[in-house]
Amino acid sequence: MQAISDLIRDVPDFPRPGVLFKDISPLLADADGFALCIEALADPWRQLGVQAVCGIESRGFIFGAALARTLHAGFVPVRKKGKLPPPVIGIDYGLEYGVDRLEVGASALRAGERVLIVDDVLATGGTLEAARRLVDGLGAEVVGGSVVIELAALAGRPRWTGATPLHALILS
Ligand code: IMP
Repeated sequence: MQAISDLIRDVPDFPRPGVLFKDISPLLADADGFALCIEALADPWRQLGVQAVCGIESRGFIFGAALARTLHAGFVPVRKKGKLPPPVIGIDYGLEYGVDRLEVGASALRAGERVLIVDDVLATGGTLEAARRLVDGLGAEVVGGSVVIELAALAGRPRWTGATPLHALILS
């Protein structure tokens, strides 16, 4: 995992003072590093019959779409409010300041479809858990959650209330 970590840049005070931002752009730009990352993300799920990968806007789209291809699953975007055409279902979730909303197409997933939820970073955990509840609300089966980086200091893991695993490639 060191080869992947080495391609993630820490940017202090972005997008606000006091935040240490994880910039995944160098990882995406490196052909070998990106391929290695997708294979490693796929490993825990290869035998679990994943039928759809839900990627969370926007960096979750990049990893999620590549992962869907590797797992031979479909890709379903989970988007911020107002970006998907109706009909959608949505969920409000708490941010550090205020609330945000995630939406998914109301018929994007079938009941019982086996779904993996993907994002780039697990910080406070609110985003991934909101996506999990959204998928749950459509009657699909959440096989698990997968992120490239878990920010341990923000202790987001307990917010994942699913009974299924939450896998992180890099604990930072
Ligand atoms: P959470 O809801 O607090 O877990 O935040 C996770 C969301 O914020 C993810 O969709 C990430 O893309 C984004 N995020 C939080 N921190 C970072 C970071 O350091 N780098 C890139 N994205 C981040």
